[in-house]
Amino acid sequence: MSDILTLDGVALSYHTTDGETEALAGVTFSAKRGEFLSIVGPSGCGKTTVLSVVAGLLKPTAGKVTLDGCEVTAPHGDVGYMLQKDTLFEWLTISANVELGLRVQKKLTEENRAYARALLEKYGLGEFAEHYPSQLSGGMRQRAALIRTLAFRPKLLLLDEPFSALDFQTRLDVADDVGNIIRQEGLTALLVTHDVPEAVGMGDRVIVLSPRPAVVKKIFTVPVNGTLSQKRVMPVANELSEAVWKELRTG
Ligand code: ADP
Ligand code: MG
Repeated sequence: MSDILTLDGVALSYHTTDGETEALAGVTFSAKRGEFLSIVGPSGCGKTTVLSVVAGLLKPTAGKVTLDGCEVTAPHGDVGYMLQKDTLFEWLTISANVELGLRVQKKLTEENRAYARALLEKYGLGEFAEHYPSQLSGGMRQRAALIRTLAFRPKLLLLDEPFSALDFQTRLDVADDVGNIIRQEGLTALLVTHDVPEAVGMGDRVIVLSPRPAVVKKIFTVPVNGTLSQKRVMPVANELSEAVWKELRTG
């Protein structure tokens, strides 16, 4: 399969009044269309910075990002973001939240509205379309937030520690749910997480970043398919988690 995303020697330094912070020192990796890549690395190593560069929110100091054949040089509407907080508006219904997403992206066409509606139906939220976020469980809220993002057909989904605010059991369920939807829709995804089993459980490959300034230290291929809760109990997946942990610990 062809690569949809390539980072080629991406370096980035933040300039503040206190001076310069070198966050990325030349990050190189690529994602195939439909691939799910997990990114792990020590706290503060530059994971979120990688996602911001891919989204075009930050311009690399050196190197380049290519998405679907085009160099990323500015913010663009081709990526969807999923964050720790679902950022649904409490005073809007689920369908209004989803439509607001399209409106903000200037993509509120009849066709997209129908597509969003179909996604809500397909993923079991059809009957909750006129409910408010507070009437939904945490897992359903995350699903609604994901559908809001999917509705504008992003080429790439960026997930920045999206489950870290959830308790353990909910996290497993929501991760399975989100993972299944992403796979079913054939989306390419970059997941940043500090949870190694989650990285292994959701990803096709796991990219380990070095301490700041980040470079790619190692890329592991996950040898089995399945959801997080399936892989959690597979010895090969657990062995891979061990290997990833070891890679993270050794400087
Ligand atoms: P991670 O997501 O891996 O925890 P980040 O990408 O958020 O790391 O940050 C990497 C480094 O860059 C950290 O040292 C952080 O303090 C610094 N940093 C992040 N954002 C900014 C910013 N807007 N201005 C200055 N420094 C920043
Ligand atoms: Mg971060």
